[in-house]
Amino acid sequence: MVSTRVKLTVAFVVGMIAVAITLFLSLLTARNNAVYHDIAQYAAAQGDLAARIITDAAQAGERVVATDDTALIQALSPKIIDRLQAVPGYIVVVDTAGRAVYRSNDVTRLKSQDLTNLQTQLADLPKSGEALIFSLDSLQERLLFVSHSLPGNPGGLSRIASGAIATRAEVVPTEYMVSALVIVPLIILGGGTAAFLFLGRPQRQLAEITTEVAAITDGRSLHRRLPLSDETTDFANLVTTLNAMIGRLETSFAGLRRFTADASHELKTPLAVLRADVERAMTETTSQTERMVALEEALQEVRRMTDLVESLLTLARADEGRFDIHREPVELMPLVHEVYETALILGEAQGVTVNLPFTTDAVVMADRTRLRQLFLNLVTNAIKYTPAGGHVELGLGRHPDNVTFAVRDTGIGISAADFPHIFERFWRADRVRSRMSERGGFGLGLAISQWIAQAHGGTLTASSRLGRGSLFTVTLPLGGDGQKS
Ligand code: ADP
Repeated sequence: MVSTRVKLTVAFVVGMIAVAITLFLSLLTARNNAVYHDIAQYAAAQGDLAARIITDAAQAGERVVATDDTALIQALSPKIIDRLQAVPGYIVVVDTAGRAVYRSNDVTRLKSQDLTNLQTQLADLPKSGEALIFSLDSLQERLLFVSHSLPGNPGGLSRIASGAIATRAEVVPTEYMVSALVIVPLIILGGGTAAFLFLGRPQRQLAEITTEVAAITDGRSLHRRLPLSDETTDFANLVTTLNAMIGRLETSFAGLRRFTADASHELKTPLAVLRADVERAMTETTSQTERMVALEEALQEVRRMTDLVESLLTLARADEGRFDIHREPVELMPLVHEVYETALILGEAQGVTVNLPFTTDAVVMADRTRLRQLFLNLVTNAIKYTPAGGHVELGLGRHPDNVTFAVRDTGIGISAADFPHIFERFWRADRVRSRMSERGGFGLGLAISQWIAQAHGGTLTASSRLGRGSLFTVTLPLGGDGQKS
């Protein structure tokens, strides 16, 4: 495979060649035009001179034509012919009938075929201004002719055509050829080599970065970062972005490791208890009552483990985005009443009073089962973390764009240090105590609750003060036909 370095160098060289060719052609055209212009000016000057010889003579009263028989070629007066012959180049004097009455020596030297040719060409010669360019076989050159009119037509003469050899305007000069064939290729070669060498540095830097990234992302070195050395300074942005990405990878890897460790740890204890219970139940000396107690405890542990595995599955599917939320219009008031009924029963068992001071009619597009799970999580937590004699208050409020479900308790609250962690997986304010006590959650409830709220386009927020109680609020966007007010 051709490397990017070679491809870029080739593109650069091709670009340079294209620029050089365009420049060369433009220069050549400009130079040829300038040379044509010079030749035309030279021819015009000669024509001017010849014209002045004739008009001056006419003005001085001299005889311009030798004979009144203008049918004769070279019928100019010998004196005028003498003077005209001093003018170099191709000069033809034409009379009003369009006949050539004088031809300079250069013209008369042309072969007869060329003379006829010249005659025809000159008939087409514009009266003034533009030049005419044509080739003559015997000369193997190109001639450029310009025309001058003779004011007052002295002696019946109408105009003068003066010409010069124009071949020089069409050949590419040697110095141009040297530039085009030697100097420019040398410059392009030099430029190409310089580009190739210059592109070596970024290529080395990229290779360096690639090696570093490969070394870091082998899984064990995610704590390392790419150095911003001299070798990588041209790619500072890339290095910073990659470092940020490695940082995020490190965090999620650490989270994954912690999650796996926590999950195994959570399963280890109930499994140990389960094993002990089963062993106890299987011992022959164990009485029937003790056996039933052991089996009851084993069943309890199996329930706990089932709960844990279900929660883990919910979170894993949520992470993968594989969890389908079956949205349908859900009337919130009946749902909240249902949750309230359950809360009353739970609260009674704990010695906690539960109230529902206000509700409202509201419909949201939601998964009813998931929403119930979310509300129940919050309510159970509130009752769980409120000592006997405390109060728990539920409320459903409606706002222009959304609806809120709030659970306020007068329980133990959460310390400021613990507060930022409450939505983390497996996080519990007091791990040991909560596992041992009957509160015994896994620290997954709030993580799942937050996911459910977010999956519905809503939020779950909390505020709490240690010893004073907590407030958890679910905000959901209003939905359903005509329910937005
Ligand atoms: P758990 O199953 O342990 O209750 P959660 O994810 O529901 O797990 O809650 C995480 C932690 O947040 C709990 O262990 C507890 O320390 C704290 N917490 C949750 N709700 C409340 C509340 N209403 N009052 C005080 N602490 C709470």
